[in-house]
Amino acid sequence: MTDAALEAWAQETREDVKKLLRELCVIPAPSHFEEKRAEHVLEWMRRNGGERAFIDGKKNVIWPVDDDGRKPLAVFMAHTDVVFPDTGPLPLHIEGTEYHCPGAGDDTANLSVLLYAAKYFAGTCRAGRELGLLVVANSCEEGLGNLDGCREIVDAYRDRIRFLVTVDGNTGSMVTRAVGSHRYRVTLRTEGGHSYGAFGNRNAIAYLSSMISSLYDVRVPQKPGTRTTYNVGLIEGGTSVNTIAQEASMLYEYRSDDRECLEQMKRIFLGIAGAYRAMCQSLDVELLGERPCNGPVDEEAFERLKAGVRAASEEITGKAPSERSGSTDANYPLSLGIPAVCTGACIMHGCHTREEYVDTETLYTGMRYLLALMSRLLG
Ligand SMILES: [Zn+2]
Repeated sequence: MTDAALEAWAQETREDVKKLLRELCVIPAPSHFEEKRAEHVLEWMRRNGGERAFIDGKKNVIWPVDDDGRKPLAVFMAHTDVVFPDTGPLPLHIEGTEYHCPGAGDDTANLSVLLYAAKYFAGTCRAGRELGLLVVANSCEEGLGNLDGCREIVDAYRDRIRFLVTVDGNTGSMVTRAVGSHRYRVTLRTEGGHSYGAFGNRNAIAYLSSMISSLYDVRVPQKPGTRTTYNVGLIEGGTSVNTIAQEASMLYEYRSDDRECLEQMKRIFLGIAGAYRAMCQSLDVELLGERPCNGPVDEEAFERLKAGVRAASEEITGKAPSERSGSTDANYPLSLGIPAVCTGACIMHGCHTREEYVDTETLYTGMRYLLALMSRLLG
């Protein structure tokens, strides 16, 4: 890193970042229930120069590091929620430099690095800088959180957001293409009855199984350069071994990094659902989650953002970042045409498992990388 002040800050905050990670990672924060973690972050911000920080209606903790209410904004965010449903403290085991804790890497380590990077820029904000800075510890990134936290931020500041960076995942990766998805619960009902006495009545399990077979006969769109997938992830139903099932349900999703392909999957799915509805007593489709694909993003502005990530990555790690598609908080701004990327400031292992851990040695590189990136993008 060329800037000695940034280098010194990364060195100076090494232990602080780890301490903050230890404090945060044990606080339970399932999606939609991030309040305890949000409170802790808010207190931290207030003690570290963020007197104007506040929590919004979606449990996002917002730090207007440099915001006069008018100028264009760079938004940097990291999410507080974890995939684990725990409502009590999450277990933290420290083995040497490794912190083992569900959610340690995704996204608590990134959030800890981001908060200390924000503190640096809060302390060095030059008055009259053209681009403002908003730092957010956001809610609801995971699963059925459905990106609600990010949606709220982008909707609230929409006209002024120049670009958005979500700090999530590993250093050296960059997500630039949003994988959109639709997630459903399908519930199918038939008359059912006694397995012997009412034999011949329609069986909800049999119809659901047949519907699943039909869904798995679908050939996904073959548009070059795109990827489309689907999955039935859970099935439930029936009453007992001697009962013709009256009700059966499943969770189903499809994903694509292309808008058209996603719409094509939707038409196919609704067509199949319609056919089975006609065969049963009832069939309900409940949309549980919807994540959008890239919309019409201004290519020039987007390229500038991506070039900043590439340059910072090359400067600090010596390598260009791997560029890929993914389902992240960047989906929502991208769907509206706002340049956005997802990139990480740590290296994590076992993400989304209870064995998840982060080697805290990687946080120092992560901090240097994030500082380099922010100083490049903020100008
Ligand atoms: Zn994450």
